[in-house]
Amino acid sequence: MLGNMMSGQLLISGLIEHAEKYHSDAEIVSRTVEGPIHRYTFSEAAKRSRKLANALVKLGLTKGDTVGTLAWNGYRHFELYFGVSGIGCVVNTVNPRLFPEQLTYIINHAENQYLFIDLSFVDLVESLEDELSDVKGFIILTDKDNMPETKLKNVICYEDLISEESEDFDWPEFDENTASSLCYTSGTTGNPKGVLYSHRSTVLHAWIVSSGNVAKVSSSTVILPVVPMFHVNAWGIPYAAAMFGAKLVFPGPKLDGESIHELIESEKPDLLMGVPTVWLGLLQYLSGANKTIDSVDTALVGGAAAPRAMIQEFEEKHNVFLMHGWGMTEMSPLGTATVKTAEMDNMDLEDRYDLQQKQGKAFFGVDMTIADDDGNELPKDGIAFGRLLVKGPTIVERYFKAEESAKDENGWFDTGDVAKIHPEGYMEIVDRSKDVIKSGGEWISSIDLENAAVGHPEVAEACVIGVLHEKWDERPLLLVVKTSDGNPSAEDLLNFLDGKVAKWWLPDDVIFVEDLPHTATGKLLKTNLRDEYKNYLINK
Ligand code: ADP
Repeated sequence: MLGNMMSGQLLISGLIEHAEKYHSDAEIVSRTVEGPIHRYTFSEAAKRSRKLANALVKLGLTKGDTVGTLAWNGYRHFELYFGVSGIGCVVNTVNPRLFPEQLTYIINHAENQYLFIDLSFVDLVESLEDELSDVKGFIILTDKDNMPETKLKNVICYEDLISEESEDFDWPEFDENTASSLCYTSGTTGNPKGVLYSHRSTVLHAWIVSSGNVAKVSSSTVILPVVPMFHVNAWGIPYAAAMFGAKLVFPGPKLDGESIHELIESEKPDLLMGVPTVWLGLLQYLSGANKTIDSVDTALVGGAAAPRAMIQEFEEKHNVFLMHGWGMTEMSPLGTATVKTAEMDNMDLEDRYDLQQKQGKAFFGVDMTIADDDGNELPKDGIAFGRLLVKGPTIVERYFKAEESAKDENGWFDTGDVAKIHPEGYMEIVDRSKDVIKSGGEWISSIDLENAAVGHPEVAEACVIGVLHEKWDERPLLLVVKTSDGNPSAEDLLNFLDGKVAKWWLPDDVIFVEDLPHTATGKLLKTNLRDEYKNYLINK
């Protein structure tokens, strides 16, 4: 028997309409590419999203068409999230940090009809223009006074595009499973793969992210998402803020410690969001300049494992709870978080850090298990570890334009991560399956070794890779960037690690490097390092 309830569709246009009706005065503050700080309210954002919708229809866009963005976190990008998806088109947020060949691949594969670009990326797009197969025009996200000289063809100024349009627009009703936005994974090997979100998955994810067990988003929350809107929709926070009327503070192009601190001082966010490298920059600035971040209560960190030293420094120097979140582009992106519990309040700090280092508990809607290579489920005892498998309504079913499903025969999506699940439900990432070091048939976690190494006060960043070994197949090699005033020896570091990890995990050697390569989303890029150092121990 069916229930007797209405079945309204969960649509992204509903979020901005709701924000206008109930949180019209909530602010959106943006550091602009042009320089000045811009501020307006959800009421104005909603009106301008409707003007944009009218303009998009005039450009000839119809349901299912795709448009791309190359833009920082800012109010015009925010309007595109709602204006484009709201009319049934798809917004493809392209990560400008990717290589030119990857950018061209993505823009063509997505069949973007128009590109909306920030001033910072005009030169970049000029260099790609000849390769772009479907793009009919370029809209520059600025006003008339700041329009640049450019050789791009069919260029439109964003403010000109929307200025004469009506503030009235009736958002169309359609099936909530309609596509809304498209993000590509960075693809450290092979071409990037597209994940096509729906209105339903986006609204469900916004609810999940806002919940008490994750970011606790409400009309009294002030959020500074440093995580870019071109990286998995800024973890869904623009939608969540509209759902609950939270104030948003967009950092624009300036993501260095000093600029972020300046925004924290002026806008008083209580929640920050970003990847570990961003927090490393902020903490270094705060400590060098002797500054504090008093308004901040929680910093959500994800995209890569947060080292214990970072959790500790946020807590002990700044009274900020560093909440670990784990997820991936394929999961919209969040799947777990380590929220602060009442139990943690009464814990010894070191025990609490043990918990905070884990990636957290799954949310309602995310089913999770671990399995061996043959697909047999493993015990969730905090000891066994294996492939981390997930399923749920915010998780990819197939990649964009793929013929085959991304699910296995039991309906699970293999995350490519290796993890443990503890009896009380905490998930702990051991490693990426391709990064785990296979020494004599046993596994060594590169992440655990890196986290232990950055606990040394003279280590700025650490990277562990598996390299060939005659007897053990693979052994760990530690690459280290020293702090500006540090000068540890290899022996110092190995002595420091001794006792913090199993003896047979200790790296076979330490190499000091000036810097380490990162992916376009801030993760350590290990593929090239593995190639470069593959025979290091054999030739030594
Ligand atoms: P890309 O950077 O390639 O676009 P994603 O941003 O989707 O990909 O990255 C997903 C991967 O990042 C996860 O599968 C996991 O390996 C890693 N990751 C994300 N969050 C965490 C975390 N909190 N701890 C450890 N690893 C993480």
